Amino acid sequence: MLNNFMENLQKYAKLLVAKGINVQPGDWVKMTITVDQAPLARFITQEAYALGAEKVIVKWSDDEITKLHYLHQPTEVLTDIPQYEIDESEDHVLNHRVSRLSILSSDPGLLNGVDPTKVAAFQNVAGKAFHAQRKATQNDDLKWTVAAAAGASWAATVFPHLATSEEQVDALWDQIFKTCRVYEEDPIVAWDEHKKTLNEKAAKLNEIQFDALHYTAPGTDLTLGLPKNHIWACAESYNPKDEEFIANMPTEEIFTAPDTRRMDGVVRSTKPLSYAGTLIEGIEVHFKDGKIVNISAEKGDEAIKKLVFENEGATGLGEVALVPDPSPISQSGIIFFNTLYDENASNHLAIGSAYPTTIEGGTTMSQEELQANGMNTSTVHVDFMIGSDKMNIDGIKQDGTVVPIFRNGDWAF
Ligand code: ZN
Ligand code: ZN
Repeated sequence: MLNNFMENLQKYAKLLVAKGINVQPGDWVKMTITVDQAPLARFITQEAYALGAEKVIVKWSDDEITKLHYLHQPTEVLTDIPQYEIDESEDHVLNHRVSRLSILSSDPGLLNGVDPTKVAAFQNVAGKAFHAQRKATQNDDLKWTVAAAAGASWAATVFPHLATSEEQVDALWDQIFKTCRVYEEDPIVAWDEHKKTLNEKAAKLNEIQFDALHYTAPGTDLTLGLPKNHIWACAESYNPKDEEFIANMPTEEIFTAPDTRRMDGVVRSTKPLSYAGTLIEGIEVHFKDGKIVNISAEKGDEAIKKLVFENEGATGLGEVALVPDPSPISQSGIIFFNTLYDENASNHLAIGSAYPTTIEGGTTMSQEELQANGMNTSTVHVDFMIGSDKMNIDGIKQDGTVVPIFRNGDWAF
């Protein structure tokens, strides 16, 4: 076991509740976590109550059992989400503005071998059934944080060269602690400094208000319009009570929404994507007149095609994010096979819905108003990674002036 593991695990738990969802007295907290991470769940619960949480709800799952459900339940049973589950979720979201803490630890290839049609059908139905929760989350109507824990099968995928499962899990925890700044004397202070750096870049981009971005790299030549009054956001978010929270831990990205009506060209992915339990690699996406017209992958072709062509609004993009190649996660050279980590190593785009928070006035706009402003709406939001040390990005101003933003994968701005 890592030195001082339990001590660091508790520091991590405290960071997630104090800085991540920023628990305030009287808050309700809902955490989703797998049973093998019970020690972390206990620390999180303890720290949340210590900060005055009124109620902590724990939603347990187990990867092996999840897979068995997919394998054995008939599709019509799997996709029949009972009304009481929807009611419960809506009660937590609408009546209690529950703060959501999602701890990811699963094997990225968990559902390999399960019929992708079944997986897609469930994702589709769940997306619709839990619409209220997704909307409240994407609108920042509630505080939410996505973080990770080192599950054994995930660790084995990331560190296959290490001899034992224990060494693999230790190595992954070590990366989680490092990238989340848990080893710092005061992780909360370290996060405040990190945020300051990100905020300065975002402020500069917000002031210029580029009309479009032009990406070039091997296999990539893509132009993405940016909506009028788009907002580049980073690390921190705010709920309607103006309480700060951090949606992703770790985070290195600065992101906004593209104008989904103005996308043209081709882009290639540079890192594997783990989506719905399937590993997808070597994605190539062709855009024409603001739509994905063709998408293929060297591995996971069926899953990516289903994602794009069988979900509402999934032929549009909802996010464009900038992450310099020298970022600590990228420099670790590790492929985590987990979007939370890999997206913070690389420039990325998201298939699906835009965050209404990334355009002025967006959180009070209707679906139609969002669309009329170039913001994509969809039942899915899936990031895929396109950055490398060979990527150049230009910003194009309203008057056509070209400003270098990235050169060879790093800020030129
Ligand atoms: Zn992102
Ligand atoms: Zn995203």
